[in-house]
Amino acid sequence: MVPAQGYAGARVGVLGLGRSGMAVARALEAGGAEALCWDDGPEARATAKAAGHRLADLTRREAFDDMACLVVSPGIAHLYPAPHPVIAAAMAAGVPVDNDIGLFFRSYATRDWDRFDRLPKIVAVTGSNGKSTTAALIHHIVTHAGRPAQLAGNIGRGVFDLEPAQEGEVVVLELSSYQTELARSLTPDIAVFTNLSPDHLDRHGGMGGYFAAKRRLFAEGGPDRAVIGVDETEGRYLVNQMAQSPGDDRVIRVSATGRLDGPGWNVFIRKSFLSETRGGRQIGAIDLRPMEHLPGAHNHQNAAAAYGVARCLGLGPKQIGAAMESFAGLPHRSQIVGRRNGVLFVNDSKATNVDSAAKALTAFDRIRWIAGGLGKEGGIADLTDVMGNVVKAYLIGHSAREFGLQMGQTEYEICETMERAVARAAAEAEDGDTVLLAPAAASFDQYPDFEKRGEAFMAEVARLIG
Ligand code: ADP
Repeated sequence: MVPAQGYAGARVGVLGLGRSGMAVARALEAGGAEALCWDDGPEARATAKAAGHRLADLTRREAFDDMACLVVSPGIAHLYPAPHPVIAAAMAAGVPVDNDIGLFFRSYATRDWDRFDRLPKIVAVTGSNGKSTTAALIHHIVTHAGRPAQLAGNIGRGVFDLEPAQEGEVVVLELSSYQTELARSLTPDIAVFTNLSPDHLDRHGGMGGYFAAKRRLFAEGGPDRAVIGVDETEGRYLVNQMAQSPGDDRVIRVSATGRLDGPGWNVFIRKSFLSETRGGRQIGAIDLRPMEHLPGAHNHQNAAAAYGVARCLGLGPKQIGAAMESFAGLPHRSQIVGRRNGVLFVNDSKATNVDSAAKALTAFDRIRWIAGGLGKEGGIADLTDVMGNVVKAYLIGHSAREFGLQMGQTEYEICETMERAVARAAAEAEDGDTVLLAPAAASFDQYPDFEKRGEAFMAEVARLIG
């Protein structure tokens, strides 16, 4: 656990008592602050009280008297569609609002670091898709190279649950737009922007607000190095803002869609080969075809970003390539869960939106596609262009019929349940086919979350193939 610095003897409000809020309360108390905890849910309040934290009703105006700061959880809206009433009251009372990430960046480095020969480095990864995979891959590459490393942030471990840094350690943080938008301090050594596509627009007041939230990680004078995906206009704009000249190697440009020319530092993918160029010369290359846990152009983009970071950390191309070969992938993201009679079974339950499902549909050849759930606005209309590899769709959940009407020429069957969809797809699959769960929809109609949906798929596959 990391103690929060800067608030010894002060009163600090903590709004939201989920995993990260509880970790913040513990960290504040360990740093000598008085944490005043609140959650709208009585159960969360009871859990916090049972854990020994002090509850304070932050919906009362007096709660802000003498409050030094209010730390809020990422799930709670602070701006759009409307600020939570407690946050609105804090702003009206002039109390600074922050989150765990801002507090962490001001707390992590301590006097102890003076004795290190090699200072710890913080790598922060943001973007619309691929954050978790990229962050986990960076962590894997660094660990494989024998350097101490820790992984936290949006990926399921709160930043205050990290251990204090060791000599030469690399801390990899996955940061969502909710987190980067509110943090009052964002000072990673290396910042990564994977890509941008519309998501969470209600929380950011549209696409401009969404990009602005992510951009905060790259504030002028910010990270020592920036690794930026340039396959969208926003990424190219960000590079232009960060680089002082065409050859400025503070910025590493990453592309999954083709060769990058130019005298700067570039990492790009062409025909499944990763190339690194600097000053117009190729200085590193990796064949990504054997990396079966990084399938498809989207994972190649993640590999290129992780490679860029590893190079900034001083690792060599061969060392990075060897580490990538042993990367096992993350559960529910292009996860290979079984093989039978030449048929591959892949769990991409995390493909909850159309963009990530589109990537999965182009990553494999002959696809038996299990899709559906709670569809997002527009359904799968935007996937028509990428259905060329789909042999047949097996549709489940609330949106099954709506998706069916949008399938165009592609054959489909309404299966309703995961059990039936897996059984039907497996029965019809031939040697060389891939049975792919990539729902293009949220899971909440049939499952508590995308993890449970992925587990249900894996259980059906396991039953079938033993
Ligand atoms: P995030 O943490 O940003 O949500 P994940 O690594 O968890 O990203 O992947 C989320 C979904 O997006 C998965 O379905 C995954 O297969 C897909 N995906 C992974 N990397 C990319 C990428 N670079 N571009 C588009 N989709 C991706």
